[in-house]
Amino acid sequence: MVYDIIIVGAGPAGLTAAVYALRAKKSVLILEKGALGGQMTFSPKIENYPGFIELSGNELADKMTEQALNLGAEIELGQVTQVRDNGETKTVVTEDGEFEAKTVILAVGAEHRRLGLQNEEELIGSGVSFCAVCDAAFFNGQEVCVAGGGNSAMQEALLLSENCTKVTMIQNLAFLTGEEALKQKTTAKNNIEIIYNSVVTGLIAENGLKAIEIQNTETLEKSTVKTDGLFVAVGLRPDTDPFRDFISLDQYGYIAADESCVTDIPGVFCAGDCRVKTVRQVSTAAADGAVAAIAAVKYIG
Ligand SMILES: Cc1cc2nc3c(=O)[nH]c(=O)nc-3n(C[C@H](O)[C@H](O)[C@H](O)COP(=O)(O)OP(=O)(O)OC[C@H]3O[C@@H](n4cnc5c(N)ncnc54)[C@H](O)[C@@H]3O)c2cc1C
Repeated sequence: MVYDIIIVGAGPAGLTAAVYALRAKKSVLILEKGALGGQMTFSPKIENYPGFIELSGNELADKMTEQALNLGAEIELGQVTQVRDNGETKTVVTEDGEFEAKTVILAVGAEHRRLGLQNEEELIGSGVSFCAVCDAAFFNGQEVCVAGGGNSAMQEALLLSENCTKVTMIQNLAFLTGEEALKQKTTAKNNIEIIYNSVVTGLIAENGLKAIEIQNTETLEKSTVKTDGLFVAVGLRPDTDPFRDFISLDQYGYIAADESCVTDIPGVFCAGDCRVKTVRQVSTAAADGAVAAIAAVKYIG
């Protein structure tokens, strides 16, 4: 069978694309290697998706998945390892087989780099966060730390400094990296402290995060910083490795496409966090999903 549209990734971008494509009466196969719902399944509480005052990421993921399934989406679990362009059709290769479609929407998302600490994963949502836009409001009037010292860490720290009484940045180098304007803003803030030449080596928890252990990279001395939350801002990695030789990516691995979601391969579109963009949220991923699906439907004709 040749599907009208194969969507790679069942996060909010992919699931929204499915809804739009199915409502336009196109046949849709979604291929997903992990959890249906994508990154938001790691979020215990979402308060900034329109229409829902508060719900868990899993609840939102279930609702989006149900909506796509009710409209007739086919979903296969499996990791896409390659996409081939045959001109009029595209071949999407997974570990288990090959699928054929007239168009492909890549909605493969991105992953926040972890610190690699033992209990980091289980503390996500209980003190450890990767997104100040998403979670700053949960730390109103509290003290938090930010791991990192680049552009995204400074942006996280500045945003958090509006909600929190104190923000402590832990930077592994002797200086902040990134844009000069951001550095000036960050260092000028009274409630942002920067601990240089230090890395986070441990997460101390008891019913949620209570403190972090840090180590000076020069003296190797260890110390403890009491904190209500740790925002990890050591980079985001788009999940685009399998498509590196197929489609144009920017220097960081994001798919080179603007808000039209059109890539440099005719009939291949992209949506969500994997695309070059400035704001990566559920709402912006859903918006991309709609745009990409409408573009794919128009391409099919
Ligand atoms: C802990 C946490 C909390 C967050 N909280 C909020 C919040 O409160 N509000 C908010 O708006 N945003 C929040 N976000 C951000 C939001 O979840 C993302 O911006 C959004 O999920 C991006 O959607 P996406 O569909 O582009 O990508 P993703 O959600 O990353 O989905 C991509 C999907 O593609 C799959 N995939 C990748 N590669 C392949 C492959 N080769 N083959 C098959 N499948 C593949 C992945 O498994 C994944 O399921 C949070 C993120 C995290 C991590």
